Amino acid sequence: MILANARLPDGKSADVEIAGGLIAALHPPGSAPHAGERIDLAGGLLLPALVDGHIHLDKTHWGAPRLPHVEGHSVRERIAAERVQRHRVALPIEARASALIRTLIANGTTRVRSHVDIDNDVGLDNLEAVMRVREAYREWIDIQLVAFPQSGVTTEKGAPDLLASAMTAGADLIGGLDPAGFDNDVKGQLDIVFRLAERFGKGIDIHLHDGGETGAAELRDIAERAIAAGMQGRVVVSHAFALGGIGANLFAETADALARAGVAIMTSCPPSAPVPPPAKLRERGVTVFAGSDNIRDCWSPYGNGDMLDRAAIIAERHALFADRELEDAFALTTTEADKALGFPLREPCVGGIADVVVVPAASIADAVVDRPPRALVLRAGRIAAERGVASAALKEVVVA
Ligand SMILES: [Zn+2]
Repeated sequence: MILANARLPDGKSADVEIAGGLIAALHPPGSAPHAGERIDLAGGLLLPALVDGHIHLDKTHWGAPRLPHVEGHSVRERIAAERVQRHRVALPIEARASALIRTLIANGTTRVRSHVDIDNDVGLDNLEAVMRVREAYREWIDIQLVAFPQSGVTTEKGAPDLLASAMTAGADLIGGLDPAGFDNDVKGQLDIVFRLAERFGKGIDIHLHDGGETGAAELRDIAERAIAAGMQGRVVVSHAFALGGIGANLFAETADALARAGVAIMTSCPPSAPVPPPAKLRERGVTVFAGSDNIRDCWSPYGNGDMLDRAAIIAERHALFADRELEDAFALTTTEADKALGFPLREPCVGGIADVVVVPAASIADAVVDRPPRALVLRAGRIAAERGVASAALKEVVVA
């Protein structure tokens, strides 16, 4: 396949030859060989495909009628609301997760990490449903699954055994939830989470909403444990709101501990919460990446599965306005996310994996600010979406 008249991120123009799922060659415009399929990009900007580093495929109501949001902001209030509402959603998980995946792909995302609820209420049902969807879209999108103890680890009877069963069933990582704020047992929860990670040889991704000095102490605890377990580069803390609400000295101390331990931070940058500052963390050597988190579910009626949108939300919240800063915001949804999630990097260069998204934009900075429609999405060199619509080759998941 030839993608003719492409604009590369460095501003140069090229005819891009795709073969064997890779970017095989870059030819001067008009000089590419004429064999095979040829798509004229008419100056469209060729970017690496996007990564959504944190979603909840089992929670989303995407594709189903919107359920009115139950009021209440605390984690406990949201869990209580979800306990009731999760059984009232009109469509099964497979249909909703499938609808969201098609939207993600149409928006240029071909790699995601999804947390999946594991508790006594749903058992492994949600995980099994999402695993069926993962299998159906395996050719089109990489999906990592985190066994997420949404109802706690030490306060939910039997949770450690359920989490172990989830790992045996096919989850890729162990999750956690506010060891202090939810379980009120930091040592108890983290002992179990790290022990499970060690037992299964898998990484960790912990939801940490706990703020202030409590949250900061938990971050340093997690960092120390990551080093002790030899898990540098394999532990993520999602949200880490504490990093957005502590003084400069404690911030520096905590960030340095995270950097030493190779613990990465995921931010969805909700406008309604204190959030980690990506530029300041990066300065101190911490890997930061982005995710949507809740997309139209019991936790939030917002979200659209568009990672260019997410990059813009993060950039605006943190006053990242210069082109260089907008490129950094874009990296949170591409290279930094690939690095944090352990995926091979994808640069639009010769030999690179042909997972690309094409947008009508002159530069990465323009793409973040304008959030233009996605003209074309390739997954390993095959057309996954065109003009914002998932390809017919992506088969719907049929629920028995
Ligand atoms: Zn989440």
